Amino acid sequence: MKLLEDKILNESVVLNDEILKVDGFINHQVDPKLMKEIGEEFAEYFKDRGITKVATIESSGISPALMTALALGVPLIIMKKSPSNVMKTDLFHTEVVSFTKGSSYELTVSKSHISENDHVLIIDDFLANGEASTGAIRLVRKGNATIAGVGILIEKSFQAGRNKLNEAMIEVYSLARIESLKGGIIQFKKQEN
Ligand code: 5GP
Repeated sequence: MKLLEDKILNESVVLNDEILKVDGFINHQVDPKLMKEIGEEFAEYFKDRGITKVATIESSGISPALMTALALGVPLIIMKKSPSNVMKTDLFHTEVVSFTKGSSYELTVSKSHISENDHVLIIDDFLANGEASTGAIRLVRKGNATIAGVGILIEKSFQAGRNKLNEAMIEVYSLARIESLKGGIIQFKKQEN
């Protein structure tokens, strides 16, 4: 998506060879117009899949996921990060390793929001090693719901996440695919899909 790629080129900060900071338009300050366009793009791409719910992980995925849910006309589920000693019986829970924090957290969702009738689209800001996305997928499946696909704003294609999801037969649609951040230079992957 050219709009997002331009924004990344003009307004993001390469922290090191692996991490991109997008605090000015996604993670801290949010660009609502960009989020609206992103939501419409995901909705257009996934429109014929019979999606009943959009799901994301708090907190950075919420803005684009909400706009996607609005455009698809379905509810948004926000999966919560809680300390790992919280084990409530009305929640599905799974452990996720955080790429940016280097620690793990318990991801939870209420059993009352996911059922076997749901076909869920997962939206997240970044795809790195795929831990967050695969954790979200595990939770959806614990509720016997099915996965429609994963929509990602920024995929770092040099990390393992995309392959992990593809191997699990999950369709991934990434709006910007970064091939390299080496030397502080952002290089996008040539679009092949
Ligand atoms: P994964 O679980 O795929 O390894 O990492 C994805 C999660 O880690 C995303 O939800 C995102 O919050 C965070 N993340 C991964 N890479 C980056 C990055 O380069 N920049 C930022 N801001 N967050 C990232």
